Amino acid sequence: MSFDLVLGQDRAIAVLRSALVSGRLAPAYLFSGPPGVGKRFTAVQLVKALNCERGGADACDTCSACRMVDREAFPDLYLPTRGERKIGKGSGDGTEGSLSLGEILRRLHFAPVMGRWKVVLIDPAEALTAEAGNMLLKTLEEPPQKTMFLLTAVVQHSILPTIRSRCQALRFTPLPPEVVRRYLEGRSVQGQLAESISRACRGSIEVAEDMIREGVMDQKALILDYLLSLFESPLGARVDDTNRMLGSLAESERQAVDRVHAILAILVRDLLWAASDAGTEDLVFVARSRDLVRLASRLGVRRVLDVASAAAGVGHGLRHNENPRHILLHLGNRLAALGAALPAVARSTHARS
Ligand SMILES: [Zn+2]
Repeated sequence: MSFDLVLGQDRAIAVLRSALVSGRLAPAYLFSGPPGVGKRFTAVQLVKALNCERGGADACDTCSACRMVDREAFPDLYLPTRGERKIGKGSGDGTEGSLSLGEILRRLHFAPVMGRWKVVLIDPAEALTAEAGNMLLKTLEEPPQKTMFLLTAVVQHSILPTIRSRCQALRFTPLPPEVVRRYLEGRSVQGQLAESISRACRGSIEVAEDMIREGVMDQKALILDYLLSLFESPLGARVDDTNRMLGSLAESERQAVDRVHAILAILVRDLLWAASDAGTEDLVFVARSRDLVRLASRLGVRRVLDVASAAAGVGHGLRHNENPRHILLHLGNRLAALGAALPAVARSTHARS
């Protein structure tokens, strides 16, 4: 049940489920993958499954063990203190309930207090000091009975090879956009906003949550996404995107095209800046610097000037009261023609399948 709540990590979950069913659990797991894709959440679900009062290969989510684990207040779940952002071997911060790794490792030799398994969750394992790592390694070489270590890391190879070799490694991958979108819709984030965030968050729920919290995906970001998509979309998708974008802005179509024109001018400036290798800190859309640098390097300065000329065309159309949809369609055709002439890249966040 609770494993069903883990989004988009089917392979890792399948491995854990089958280990739980067969009882062939590794003494240590290393969950690696980018931030915000469910490593810690999965670790918590595993701790519940190991200790759920109802037994079985998944957690019930309702018994007192499950609920205590969810609150990270289960006596057999150990979370080493992170003094000064590092997990050291000695002296915890002294507050009740938080223990240093050294103290935790000593306690593992006793029977579980309440559950069936003692679990040490080290999140992130990159925070282990060398000294703490060595101490952990000694315990991993001869793990006490009914003890499991769960380590998380962004990159597997950031963990000492000696520790890594004692863990079963499971990779966590960025979430597909449609999975993020469904998650956002479950949180009442709808329509184009959910679509834009799910495409821009690089597969991370954490980044998506930040975008909502900080309101970074306001209309500006929505328009920027629309513009970037024009470089790569076939005609049908361009028309659909244009209709969706116009429909989602709460203003007249003419005002919407005014805004597109303004954002396009900033985009041209950013692309020129990125194409000139001047560094990315000064980009207006600095949050999208990776996409912009990639696009600018494919375009080159000469084609960025063609984008500027397309932007001038939008200004001309607005001044001459042309139909707003026609203006955008014309813009889309010009940007798509530029995009079609570009060298292919292995993968782009704006490619449509
Ligand atoms: Zn339970």
